[in-house]
Amino acid sequence: MKIAKIESFCVSPRWVFLRVETETGIIGWGECIMPRRVRAVLGAIADLTENILGEDPLAIEDLWQRMYRGGFFRGGPVLATAIAGIEQALWDIKGRHYGIPIHEFLGGRVRQKVRAYAWIGGDRPNDVVAMAKERIAQGFTAVKMNATEELHYLDAHAKIEAVVGRVDALRRECGRDLGIAIDFHGRVHRAMAKQLIRELEPFHLLWIEEPLLSEHNDALPAIAAHTPIPIATGERLCSRWEFKPLLEARVVDIIQPDVSLTGIHELEKIGRMAEAYDVTLAPHCPNGPICLAATLQVDACLPNVALQEYSMGMHYHRGYAGLVPGEMTDYLVGPEMNAVREGFLSIPTGPGLGITINESVVRERHQIWTLRDNNWRNADGTLAEW
Ligand SMILES: [Mg+2]
Repeated sequence: MKIAKIESFCVSPRWVFLRVETETGIIGWGECIMPRRVRAVLGAIADLTENILGEDPLAIEDLWQRMYRGGFFRGGPVLATAIAGIEQALWDIKGRHYGIPIHEFLGGRVRQKVRAYAWIGGDRPNDVVAMAKERIAQGFTAVKMNATEELHYLDAHAKIEAVVGRVDALRRECGRDLGIAIDFHGRVHRAMAKQLIRELEPFHLLWIEEPLLSEHNDALPAIAAHTPIPIATGERLCSRWEFKPLLEARVVDIIQPDVSLTGIHELEKIGRMAEAYDVTLAPHCPNGPICLAATLQVDACLPNVALQEYSMGMHYHRGYAGLVPGEMTDYLVGPEMNAVREGFLSIPTGPGLGITINESVVRERHQIWTLRDNNWRNADGTLAEW
């Protein structure tokens, strides 16, 4: 079998799908991220494609080594997501070739289902209680929200009080059993993070996420040493080599690798590394249906996955920054595969990724968008992290 063709599709709301065709007619799908740098991602896919056309799609590890190491310069999320999308599609092909789900190649299932959590609130998080009640009615037992809007290095304490007010309302209105995770989203600088974390301690959170930007992970010990709240991070990291110092520092309780940055096999390897440090995973997936299906294949065989991020109904999908609305179910034949039941996602059992992509909808909706940067500003005009 040989790789005959690789195509990319940019579809609403902000997803990049990748289709790999073999000369025997087996087709595999993958998904890339980075919608704000979409042409760079498409360019990376084109460069990688030139190198692997005509190769055996079943030799996944060798092709991954070539894509990762072959260009001499390596790393970074643009190349990582392009490699990950292709690698997911190769696994899909391999599973379909042998007629088994991908997780059978990774040691087999250790679970039948995985607990999922949903987003409440957007980047401007208001009405969180109403949204949480909606999620609970859908069967979710855990939710996540962004902590703050723009926050300067030393900002008004009123902004901290506003966060605490929202979390307090959630806890009071939705009860002690609701899992609540708070995503700092790298928006919070160190001096404010210390204060905010202290104020959040009474609410028994699942975790605080990206309390600092990932380029400041070496400062996490100073944060983690002063709080019992579990610390989660890692959605911007791409490989075992990037997770290694985080695990060795023994300050993180939950890692959140994204299969559209790591690929399937690398995510499994990172998960096994984490197990040796007694660290759990909550794989990052505010992404589309292929990314979710790829993640579920790894969740299936890792005992240390605690929760799976789930993007259905997320604020981005309702049309965002001028992009056309879109939902995961739009692109699937048999979309019930990715549905949450009583707070859990089931592990797909069909061959490959276990989903069937509605290719005509993907081709119909293909459009290369322009998604401008957020450009949030502090009161003094300086750029704020978003
Ligand atoms: Mg996050």
